[in-house]
Amino acid sequence: MAEGEVYICPMHRNVREAQAGKCAECGMDLLPEGTRFGMLRHMVKSPLMLIAMVVVMIGVMMFAMKLL
Ligand SMILES: [Zn+2]
Repeated sequence: MAEGEVYICPMHRNVREAQAGKCAECGMDLLPEGTRFGMLRHMVKSPLMLIAMVVVMIGVMMFAMKLL
């Protein structure tokens, strides 16, 4: 078990619990803090994803230039 892990409600930023459970206000499952940005962080860390994003951006730019 990770020490210092905090569980938060996706809907209520003020709801913070030291262990998994339900939000006292809306009853949603609490998520470990960091889950929301974990995916983004993972994407930024992945070089393949960065290359894919650059390729897509260049493609969109070239497409836009053709239209002009
Ligand atoms: Zn809630």
